[in-house]
Amino acid sequence: MDRTDCETLTIEYLCTLGVLREEAYVKLNKPPKNRPIYKWNQDTWVKFDSDIDNMTLCHLCFESYQYISIDYDEVASNSKPPAALCGLINLGNTCFMNSVFQCLNNIPKFTQSILELHDEQNAPIICEYKNLIKKMCSRKYEAIRPSSLLCNIQDSLPRYKTYRQQDAQEFMNHFLHLIHAELSMKNTIITNIFYGQIRSTVKCLGCAQAETNNEPFTFLPLPITNYNQRCVRYIKADGEQRLVSLEVDSSVITVGELVDCFLKQHEPKLTRKRIQVVQLVNHSVETVYDSGRSLRYIPEKELALIECSETTTRERHIWCQFIHHSTNTAFRPPIILTCPDENCSYLHLSEQIDQVLGHLCSITNAPMSTCDVYWLNRKRKPSKLNITTNPDLPYISGVHIEMTTKWVDIYKQHYRINHSNDNSRLANLLTDFFREDYLDDDYHCEKCSKLTVARHKSDLCLPLPHVLIIQLKRFTYDVNSNQKIDTYISFPLYDLDLDEYIVKDNTDIPEKNLQTKYDLVAVSNHTGGLTSGHYTAYSKNPQDGNWYSFDDDVVRQLNSDNNVVTKNAYILVYVQRTS
Ligand SMILES: [Zn+2]
Repeated sequence: MDRTDCETLTIEYLCTLGVLREEAYVKLNKPPKNRPIYKWNQDTWVKFDSDIDNMTLCHLCFESYQYISIDYDEVASNSKPPAALCGLINLGNTCFMNSVFQCLNNIPKFTQSILELHDEQNAPIICEYKNLIKKMCSRKYEAIRPSSLLCNIQDSLPRYKTYRQQDAQEFMNHFLHLIHAELSMKNTIITNIFYGQIRSTVKCLGCAQAETNNEPFTFLPLPITNYNQRCVRYIKADGEQRLVSLEVDSSVITVGELVDCFLKQHEPKLTRKRIQVVQLVNHSVETVYDSGRSLRYIPEKELALIECSETTTRERHIWCQFIHHSTNTAFRPPIILTCPDENCSYLHLSEQIDQVLGHLCSITNAPMSTCDVYWLNRKRKPSKLNITTNPDLPYISGVHIEMTTKWVDIYKQHYRINHSNDNSRLANLLTDFFREDYLDDDYHCEKCSKLTVARHKSDLCLPLPHVLIIQLKRFTYDVNSNQKIDTYISFPLYDLDLDEYIVKDNTDIPEKNLQTKYDLVAVSNHTGGLTSGHYTAYSKNPQDGNWYSFDDDVVRQLNSDNNVVTKNAYILVYVQRTS
């Protein structure tokens, strides 16, 4: 909690919570609202709803110099450093467990609900989990040993006594069920937060009779097919950029062969010479790859294909970079311009530059005049390009196009949303999962009173679960072979929309349950093979909004949100949007 941004409120110890709220709003000069009040209790905010407004502060154990908040979210987002950045020490092949805890801890509603539970005598796992969360939030430790929690889990489930590598999804499932069981009620925080319902419909093709069945679920297990798919960034000469997926077999090992694949699948009219393959780091070109370069050590996320025109012997390529005016850093990948080797003038570039300015302005709705164009001389010193005087550019080594924060933000926003939606392979897996299909086995139809052929379809029922956990089924076990599938699956960080998978015959659902969009909060990753491997977690800290990597006791911030999506992703944790 950041205590620098506090107001002092003097109030009678015997006054009520309702009076405290009124005074607090007056003090902060805000219009009064009937919202909960939060009380700082050692290491966390405790919520007091307005239905206990009549109770006195004395009864509610408020202390002198008590910290309170009327807007928890605001306080939480201001507090630095983030509270729950604590590693978990590996107790002997327990990385699967650490990964699961780091995923669950960053589901704000779940953590808050656990902390609000009363200590029950017959609930040792909840009790230890609560202690673990409190310790992790206390900011006193860089890493702690989750030993007593593990001991209690082992008492209930002896399979975890072996200290062998276990499946993180199975463990997460077991752990949630252990908590549910300790609460010994029908509806618990587990059912409220994690349970959804799937309606499964089987339709007999003989008589068209349909049989439906609703089943609760906590995980969506999505099968993955085993082919090599690569996802690369493609930047066109007119400035347009998109992620393209390439189906690549094992014979493709060099950059040149990858380009051939790309041309065949996406741009059959272009030739190899028209594509430059580069490594992009923070939107700047780090390396230009030649076609013989092996793909093996090139990180896929940094690989980009850039379209250019073919040059004659009297022409050459120069880079056109896109610079954010205030930070002087690139806000999108560069494009390649073609100019004469000597005696270049603005006329040689005008068409190419106008095209890309047109792209920037059509995406952002910015007026053309907001883009400043600079040319760089031999020493890469920028000078403003005065278009009306049609200047000579004696030796031009590059072009910069600058935009200000307002338009850069709109531009980046556009690409964030588009990239997360249009190219999500996760969406394809979900579509497959909910697609109508023939039932594998014969179906005994009551009406036809014989074995018939039937079709099967699954749909999501409303209300949707608060937390959606997706398992990418990378581990397959069958008679012939057990394997781990390393296929890269892209998935969105924001705006995963479940609308199209919802059963459509429900009309009496209250408005507030109709939110169908989800944002990602955590990923459990698995590296390595079927028999030996390692689990880590990527989680989004609810307080500072940054993504962190949790590798047992080592916690570090991810350089970029783009690094969250990897081929190691195994469990995806999405949280339903509140508005
Ligand atoms: Zn039938």
